[in-house]
Amino acid sequence: MNLHEYQAKALLSDYGVAVPAGLLLTTSSDKTVVEEHLPESQPGRWVVKAQVHSGARGKAGGVRLAEGVSAVQEAAHAMLGTRLVTHQSGPDGLPVEAVLVEPAAAIARECYLALTVDRELERAVMIASSQGGMDIETVARTSPESIRRCVINPTVGLAAYQARDLAFSLGLEGTQIKAFVTMALNLYRAFVERDAALIEINPLAVLDDGNLSVVDAKVALDDNAGYRQPEWWARRDVNQEDPAERKAIEHGLNYVSLDGNIACMVNGAGLAMATMDLIKHAGGSPANFLDVGGGTSAEKVTAAFKLILENARVDAILVNIFGGIVRCDLIAEGIIEAAREVSLEVPTVVRLAGTNAEQGRRMLAQSGLQLTAEDDLASAARAVVALAEKHGEAAKA
Ligand code: GDP
Ligand code: MN
Repeated sequence: MNLHEYQAKALLSDYGVAVPAGLLLTTSSDKTVVEEHLPESQPGRWVVKAQVHSGARGKAGGVRLAEGVSAVQEAAHAMLGTRLVTHQSGPDGLPVEAVLVEPAAAIARECYLALTVDRELERAVMIASSQGGMDIETVARTSPESIRRCVINPTVGLAAYQARDLAFSLGLEGTQIKAFVTMALNLYRAFVERDAALIEINPLAVLDDGNLSVVDAKVALDDNAGYRQPEWWARRDVNQEDPAERKAIEHGLNYVSLDGNIACMVNGAGLAMATMDLIKHAGGSPANFLDVGGGTSAEKVTAAFKLILENARVDAILVNIFGGIVRCDLIAEGIIEAAREVSLEVPTVVRLAGTNAEQGRRMLAQSGLQLTAEDDLASAARAVVALAEKHGEAAKA
């Protein structure tokens, strides 16, 4: 679960990390709020930031500097109610339903600081770089020597000497070092106690006056620990999430949107991965990952079918079910019901194997629906790629 920047900063503030004093504006905030909270008498340079679950807002016009209260209002007005398209958001962008207004920081230089879990090491790691402001993948490519990583022992926790080592690698000096160490220790406490998967401060700015400032903050909490963080879980903004993925959760389906044109419906996560690999191998590109679960039902199959067909890019569907726990005749029933309900027009390849597969295939053949049955997965993948190509070309013509 991702938090908005303003939520992330509030979470960090709970752990004693100093964050800029911000004012949140939504579509329903009226002008007086801004006038009350940002009096003209103050220095008057503000930054107005779109609150969406994406980075790279700056380059997309989602972070604007504004001089004076009316400029703040203008910038907020221009963003609220629109969708912000960033290079991380996908072509449809994300809805801007809130903006965060903060006093503009006088930035001398930008660093990067993050905490995440290294799955291979099974340890939390803290990562720092003197090259902040841009995404860390780019830094890793262009100046890998600027990135310093420290591995945290879970029993001991982040040690002060490790934090100091990172401070030195960032080129911090004097009182900045002590401030950084305190911040790093607080961040680690927040990371552990809030079951975070990621805390990223980018940029962690060194200001003109030498102080450090958390200019941007991103926090992702571990979904699996959602039940332990009820107060944060309740603040989840579902409007920022992929609508198909949200619907899938409601139906107990495991769905991830991808950008290809061949939809897949598979039971079992491992089999779903293998199916996607085979589609790729046959020259195609999957439109989604979808695991309907081991003990799936006809109703679930119907819901899954509807879900994948909501994606307008889909040119063909591959259903791959291994009937171990589930019976293939029940799956066939679900497929037929769904295909009728949605008046299926997309070519569909079905591969059924396992319990009652024969019976399931017979039901599909007798259904009168345009379904291609295949016995083995490799030929099913080849067939669906060919059908997708044909369907895609026909749609273009
Ligand atoms: P992101 O693009 O979504 O990561 O949003 P950020 O909050 O990180 O802002 C992007 C960039 O805008 C930062 O790297 C800064 O260079 C700049 N920026 C953001 N806030 C301020 C500010 O208060 N003052 C100044 N001078 N620049 C800012
Ligand atoms: Mn940023």
